[in-house]
Amino acid sequence: MPFPLDREKTQKLTEELENVIAAHLGWFKQFSRLVACGVGIEEFQACDDAYLKSPFGQWYYRDSPHPLTGHPPFQDMAEIQQALHAHAREVVDGLRAGRRPSVEQHDACVDLALKLNNKLRHLQLDVIGDLLTTDPLTGCYSRRGMINRLQAEQERAQRIERPCSLCLIDFDHFKRINDQYGHPAGDTVLKQGMRFVGGVLRKYDMVFRYGGEEFLLCLPATPADDAAQVIERIRSGLEKMPIMLPGRHRLHVTASFGIAEVADGQPVEDSIARADTALLTAKHNGRNRVEIWRGD
Ligand code: GH3
Ligand code: MG
Ligand code: MG
Repeated sequence: MPFPLDREKTQKLTEELENVIAAHLGWFKQFSRLVACGVGIEEFQACDDAYLKSPFGQWYYRDSPHPLTGHPPFQDMAEIQQALHAHAREVVDGLRAGRRPSVEQHDACVDLALKLNNKLRHLQLDVIGDLLTTDPLTGCYSRRGMINRLQAEQERAQRIERPCSLCLIDFDHFKRINDQYGHPAGDTVLKQGMRFVGGVLRKYDMVFRYGGEEFLLCLPATPADDAAQVIERIRSGLEKMPIMLPGRHRLHVTASFGIAEVADGQPVEDSIARADTALLTAKHNGRNRVEIWRGD
């Protein structure tokens, strides 16, 4: 789905990461107490699979899938944590044989433990960042951070020499829907309608709530004519899809669409304005239509 993680999952993950950070620091405190004060050597787990049994390991290698699997900072942590446990094992084996750890051994453990802690914190900040840039009603990206994300796509389009297209979506006669069925019904239309749109798009496309009942799609590596084919599928699918309102009411809605390619070397806001011009044309030409910006 071209949306961020859903809000509830994101909130749960933030709390989970907070607990893992505390548990990892707890493990490190125990290790450091052992090295500095010689306390707790019997209980300290330093076998081959101690990295699996540690609080971090139990969280990281649990059976149920992580929503962050495939996210590079999440993957990086496995190597750091295994290296930390390999060094900790050397230190503890040495202590059991009556040897104090070398400065290098001690520093390697401290550095790796802090590195893992930093990785977990950064991951948590990424997750919180997603929460701040998500629209609570639809789960689409909000406008916060939108321009930065679009600029990154503009730069990528130049690098790969494949244009990126924008599409503004505006639900038709939305005021009437609110007036006739009530504001909560209007909310349901936005939620179900945008879930449908997200299901048609590829995972690297992005959907932003641009304002009210207007949404902005960003389709990387897609020239305007190709974008028009995808958007036409969305338009006709939306028109056919029954929206289920509470109390078994079914409703059909339509939307209008304006497409423009992201222009090289110009502010992305100018390309959004072009998509908006195309959207206005779609409205003028009768709504429930797709139009492409073809020049002023
Ligand atoms: P057009 O086909 O020209 O776009 O007509 P329209 O009625 O859709 O356009 P207009 O801009 O007149 O009205 C948009 C309405 O969308 C007005 C506003 O109250 C409603 N709206 C905006 N955000 C929300 C929302 O989050 N929930 C609900 N239920 N309604 C919203
Ligand atoms: Mg509007
Ligand atoms: Mg509208």
